[in-house]
Amino acid sequence: MLSFDQREGFIWFDGAPKPWRNCRIHVLTHGLHYASAVFEGERAYDGHVFRARDHGRRMALSAEIMGMTLPFEAAELDEAVLETLAANGLRDAYIRRIAWRGSEQLGVSAARATIHTAIACWEWPRYFSSEVQEQGLRLTWARYRRPSPVTAPCHAKAAGLYMINTIAKHEAEAAGFDDALMLDWRGYVAEATGANVFFIRGNELHSPRPDCFLDGITRQTVIELARQRGAAIFERHIEPCEIEGFEACFLTGSAAEVSPVMAVGDTAFVGAPLAATLTRDYGELVRSGQTTDQPMPGAQPFENVDSNRPRF
Ligand code: PMP
Repeated sequence: MLSFDQREGFIWFDGAPKPWRNCRIHVLTHGLHYASAVFEGERAYDGHVFRARDHGRRMALSAEIMGMTLPFEAAELDEAVLETLAANGLRDAYIRRIAWRGSEQLGVSAARATIHTAIACWEWPRYFSSEVQEQGLRLTWARYRRPSPVTAPCHAKAAGLYMINTIAKHEAEAAGFDDALMLDWRGYVAEATGANVFFIRGNELHSPRPDCFLDGITRQTVIELARQRGAAIFERHIEPCEIEGFEACFLTGSAAEVSPVMAVGDTAFVGAPLAATLTRDYGELVRSGQTTDQPMPGAQPFENVDSNRPRF
């Protein structure tokens, strides 16, 4: 596979599109040493970025949680996303926005380091291979757990929070699985390494309550679609031993979209009509041309910063 630094095209870098291969940063960058970086993953479908405004808002919140003042307004970055797509001649793409602390200061403290921002996009038709997407993913259990809200800023989409996810994903892949399901600090089912998780029993949709991990924009979208389909929705704490009672399981994420799960460890799922319906509904919605200016009817805007600030 072509290394990401060897590709052609343009990356929007600190305010303007710049040739892809020239977008380099110094090895003494705070973001690299101390994970002071926040990012977003989103998708454009036929030129329309799905819920871009919500992604922009979430990135601003993530930055605020990390004490980083973004040098651009969320709306300016939304515009820059479109500019980046156009510069690369892409209409269907995965988009990565990122902001990080620069190299002026290299120690734990870096309050005076500048904040940099970049937006890249590339063709990435699916997160899992089409074979896996067709048959369903095989998941294993992750070694590490999602930290509690008093241990880490768990609602920020921040680079540092992915350290244990990469370990889990690598271990899963090395053992022949597609991904890993992570528990939270209390031992409840939390999420996969880069996507939220849902379970189905009949007309019931169950999903872990996102009180210590990302309440994904795809997750919120799928819940709204399920509501429109008349499903009974349960956002609750789910014990690992409960999952054998479900008929279907799937993951949701901007990159992963809606991805069916065939099995978690020894527990296999037979599938359920509601899962197929929601997969189809999501596919139709994202391709329906809704822009950032027309948030999905009934969808909740992304506003969960308060839940990151526990009251003592
Ligand atoms: N959890 C994690 C750890 C993720 O990386 C993602 C992908 N951003 C999600 C959940 C799903 O979030 P979204 O639907 O907003 O992409």
